[in-house]
Order: sequence, then structure tokens, then C-alpha cells
Amino acid sequence: MPSLTFYGGVNEIGGNKILLEAEGTKIFLDFGMSFKIANTYFAEFLNPRKCSALADFFEFGLLPDIKGIYRADYLKHMDRPEEEKSIDAVFLTHAHADHAQYIHFLRTDIPIYCTKATKIILQSMEETGRNPFSDLITACDAFTFYTNKKGRFSRVTRKNTDFVHERNFHVMEPEEKVKIGSLEVEMVPVDHSLPGACGYIVFSAEGSLVYTGDIRFHGTNAELSKKFVEKAKAAEPKWLLSEGTRIDNAEKDSEEGVKNEITQLISRAKGLVFVEHPMRDLDRVNTIFEAAETNKREFVVPLKLAHLIEAMGDLCPFSLRDVKILVPKKGWGLIDRDGIDRELIEQDYANWEKEFINRENAVTCKALQKKPENYVVSMNLWEINQLTDIQPKGAIWIKSSCEPFCEEMELDEERKRNWLEHFGIEEYSAHASGHASGPEIKAMVEEINPERVYPVHTEHPEMFKDFSKDIHVEVIKLFREHYLCT
Ligand SMILES: [Zn+2]
Ligand SMILES: [Zn+2]
Repeated sequence: MPSLTFYGGVNEIGGNKILLEAEGTKIFLDFGMSFKIANTYFAEFLNPRKCSALADFFEFGLLPDIKGIYRADYLKHMDRPEEEKSIDAVFLTHAHADHAQYIHFLRTDIPIYCTKATKIILQSMEETGRNPFSDLITACDAFTFYTNKKGRFSRVTRKNTDFVHERNFHVMEPEEKVKIGSLEVEMVPVDHSLPGACGYIVFSAEGSLVYTGDIRFHGTNAELSKKFVEKAKAAEPKWLLSEGTRIDNAEKDSEEGVKNEITQLISRAKGLVFVEHPMRDLDRVNTIFEAAETNKREFVVPLKLAHLIEAMGDLCPFSLRDVKILVPKKGWGLIDRDGIDRELIEQDYANWEKEFINRENAVTCKALQKKPENYVVSMNLWEINQLTDIQPKGAIWIKSSCEPFCEEMELDEERKRNWLEHFGIEEYSAHASGHASGPEIKAMVEEINPERVYPVHTEHPEMFKDFSKDIHVEVIKLFREHYLCT
């Protein structure tokens, strides 16, 4: 009998780490970070320490203490003996941190299955991120010394390429099936607020299991989610792991509606238009791009987004050449100064940023200040200090991201409002969620019609009980305990 163990995603939105075991085969469905637990014990200036290796993560249940899944360098640093690999594969539904971030801690020989877009996004996050726990595509041996040219020991960094290991990634094509021991797993794309999102159908000798990942039915790729439901239904699953982020919300969202609103707002604006959006949601990014284009304005993107757009290639609906790249002042802030050696200016930037700052379509705050009516600018709180350089007049700010859902986000929101008030910027909002509404989830579960549904990624699992009486709702109470799939 297959069994499921939930190491996250229970009574919380995200942190999914679901272990499926069947006849000796063990796979993880997602291996994400729990924001809920992380925010309970940690904050911006109180983080799990890298020097503790896994100890800080084990202490609070951020990571499960399971033998045979973690990196040898971390285990060694904790004086734990070497372990043998104990799981067969990890299947990632998408690259959001609450589903994928903690693969950082996994052994590099564990195969990781995902879509092409998911791998590219993870790669972009690894290359552009500063988080010490973002060994996503490759892993650099931590707490390790090498013998330097002087014959002395030095600490290994990413520059010591002999100590950087590729993870064992397998990119899956739509509807591709792979055999993992006693299981067969099919990848089925879905619509979500991140490119490359998918669900999985797992076939076992005792019946099949469907995992939705994060899903919605109102985005640009809504058709994918509808096909997913059809496929899932055809598999006649015994078990369904269903997300339920918005199970308590009946409001129907629409990406098309967001596009109309943003287009309207831009058309009425006289000065600069700033848009705050989830950085890697290329659906939304394209919505803003098109809204800017309709209004004959140029879309200006930050360096990190420029990196992702280029890395995505054909998977992004437009090319990096079609937009402007905003180069912020950093370090000594020499970018806007005339007559300074290019090499000296470049020293202000990380290596990956240097790839973009000299492009023909690179602009600085000066350009935005000169012709504000020409631009729509992708902006977020972390780069808002550029407003001091721009000194915008009569600008507007469109919040195209979710409302704060924790205290820390509320404080950030307040800080942002202070900035907007200071510069006399009017704020508007236009957003559609990455998740299906309550009625849509209900319709999906009824259509797929499993024998048993396990609500995950929701704070209201009991609300699934409103569904048709034939479907048993298993509300997970025993976090980290086995659930036999009966
Ligand atoms: Zn999620
Ligand atoms: Zn997500």
C-alpha cells in the first residue's frame, strides 16, 4: 500500500515537501520552504545560520531529519557519518521558493525532475541571488578547504570549480512519463503565476495519485489547467493532493482584466508609471509589456528580470531587445557620471550584472527623469531608493501583486506607502491571484473525482468537506506521520 508523509504544506500555504512511498520506491513531491515556520522563528536580521549546517533547520522543523537525503558537506560539518542515498527522485511542480528552495540542502546525486522553464528560473535565481541557501542547479562544497598555491589551506568558494557539482536534473516534456522504481510519473503542465508550472500523475500498482501543485484557471495559460483536469480524470485516481490556497475565496480573478486595468491606468497617466509585480511571473510581465506597448511607452525592467527574460529565450513571449534595462546606481554610484572609465564603473556591479549594463537598451534613472511620459517601469520596494535619483513628478504606482498576508509584509507595505507619499505618487492596484478560487477548486475536485482528497497548501483544509459526499476528505493532522493510502 503506498503511503504519504507530509513534511510541509499542512495547514499552511506552501512549504510542500510530500514523501510518497510505494513498494520500496520513494519520491518527494516538491521540496519547498515553509514561510510560516520561517517567519515564526526568523526575521530579516535573524536567519538560520549556515554555520549550523542543518541544525537550525532541524530544530524548528524547517527541514525533516531524514537519513540519506542531505548533502555530505553539511552532514560532515555536523559530525554525522556518511549516509547512503535513501530516496529515488524529487519532482518539482514549479520554481516558487515554497516548492523548490530547499533542494539546496539535498544530495546532488538525487535526480530532480521538472519542466524546462522551472530549471531556467532556478538557474537564474542561483546566478543572480545573494541568499546563502541557493545552490539550486549546482552545489558548491561548503565548509571545505583546498590547498592553495602557497601550500596552505584556503576555504573553497565557487571560483574553485572542482568543488562545484552539477545537480542531477532531468527536464520533462509535457505529458512525458518516467519510470522511477515501482512508480511511473507523468508531468502535466498547468496554469499558475510562474512559467513552467505543472502537476503530476503518479501511477502505482495499487492505483494512481494526482498532485495539482499550484494551479489556477484564469491566467494566460488557463487551457493547460483544463487539460490537466481532463488528464487527471482519465487516470481515475484513487488519491488527489489538491492545493487549496483560496478555498475560502469565491472571487473569480482574470489576467485579462488586469491587462485592461493596467492599460487604462497607463493611458490616463501623465508622468512615469511604476508597476510592482511578482518579479518572475512572466504572464504578468507580459501583461504589463503589452499594456505599455498599447500606450506607446517603453517597458523598463530591472537587472534581475533582464537576466530571466534572456535566459528564458523562446519561453518568454517577447525578447530582451524589446524592452529597456534599468541600471541602478550601486557601490560608488558611478554609472551616471560622465568621463569615467568604463572599467571603474563596472566595479560597482556583480559579474552577472556586467553582462547587461553596457547593452544598447540599458538606461539609467536620468533617462526616466528626462522623459517620464515615455516609460512604464517595473519597480519593487527593494529598489525603490532609485526614486531619489529619479525625483518623479506626477508619477503613479500600480500595485500588481498580492496583498500582505503577514506582519512583516504589512510593515514593508507601510514603508512603501511612506515612500510614495513622500514623492507624491498616487497608488492604484490591479492584480489577479496565482491560485484557483474556492468554487473552481470544488469543480476541479469533483471533476477529477478521486476516492480520497488530501488538501495541501491551504489554511482551511476542512473546507474541502463541502464537496460531494463520495469523496473522502483526509484532513492531515499528523504532520510528519505516515498516511497509508487506502
Ligand atoms: Zn505555492
Ligand atoms: Zn506557486
